[in-house]
Amino acid sequence: MTTTNFSIDLRSDTVTQPTDAMRDAMLKAQTGDDVFQEDPEVNELQEKCAEMFGMEAGLFCPSGTMTNQIAISVHTSKGDEVICDKLSHVYNYEGGGIARLAGASVKLMNGDRGRFTSDDVLEAINPDDSHYANTSLVCLEDTCNKGGGAVWDLAQIKSVSSTARQKGLAVHLDGARLWNALVARGLQTNTKACKDYGSQFDSISLCLSKGLGCPVGSVLIGSKEFISKAHRQRKVFGGGMRQAGVIAAAGIYALDNHIDRLVEDNKNAKALGEAALSYPGVKSFSSIETNIVILHLEKGVDSAVVVAKWADLGIQCFPFSKSSIRFVTHLDLTQAQISQACNLLCGK
Ligand SMILES: *Cc1c(COP(=O)(O)O)cnc(C)c1O
Repeated sequence: MTTTNFSIDLRSDTVTQPTDAMRDAMLKAQTGDDVFQEDPEVNELQEKCAEMFGMEAGLFCPSGTMTNQIAISVHTSKGDEVICDKLSHVYNYEGGGIARLAGASVKLMNGDRGRFTSDDVLEAINPDDSHYANTSLVCLEDTCNKGGGAVWDLAQIKSVSSTARQKGLAVHLDGARLWNALVARGLQTNTKACKDYGSQFDSISLCLSKGLGCPVGSVLIGSKEFISKAHRQRKVFGGGMRQAGVIAAAGIYALDNHIDRLVEDNKNAKALGEAALSYPGVKSFSSIETNIVILHLEKGVDSAVVVAKWADLGIQCFPFSKSSIRFVTHLDLTQAQISQACNLLCGK
């Protein structure tokens, strides 16, 4: 067994620590009671996010699960059906919230790494007949987490969205890692292209605690009318916060300083994936579009065994399935750590 002082954490992009500059911004935050909508940092953060995607308003929440579940509850009535992919976070990783909180059911799409087509949507919409649940919402996820950070094709988003809207459905985007997707497309924030992207959706959930490196927080954006309903729903879910400016300030700092650098995370993911290919038992990877790498192992190779061997080398990561492993790159990885991890995976 190799012993090493080396340590690199590739388990998730949620493991990042707030930087000194971010903590400084948090320390200087102006605060007020956000339930009364009087917290200046929260108000600024909400406006900044809404403005970036051409939406009217925003709502700061403790987590991405809450922003997604609020959106689903607002867009649906009890007994409705939600169209989402079988890999979607809203379905797989939110504790059954669609059923428990919104009282809705799902129709699961069999997409390509989380990405489905307008034809899939057309086929999934229930007929207007009392035997069926009323289909009222389509949820997309860009990037798709369980799809290995897959980025949607813009034209495909537009076609799904216009089809859904023609049929009277609302369209929600789980954009937990939306900024990773935008930089992967070479799309600048606050541009017309960014607002055009936003216009495809009735609501977008954005996570500050993933690639942007904040300690906590997500923002839900949409129309004024939607956000006013979401505000009430947030209170019901217990998500009303008071002097939340201390955490919102971290979000504002991250929007100003941590978006452009996401290209590094995407690049580092490619380097790690390529390097891992030389490791015995690693067969291939799913195409690396953003900061998530899914490695596929040779037949008979157990992911848990490989993950344990890598832990001995100082590389922390999670098995993704019995025969696959996931890496996620993030803000806290230095170039030296990436090079060293690549060398170790190559057996150097
Ligand atoms: C992380 C994540 C969320 C939200 O997770 P929280 O831990 O509740 O903030 C939602 N969707 C996707 C795709 C995610 O990766």
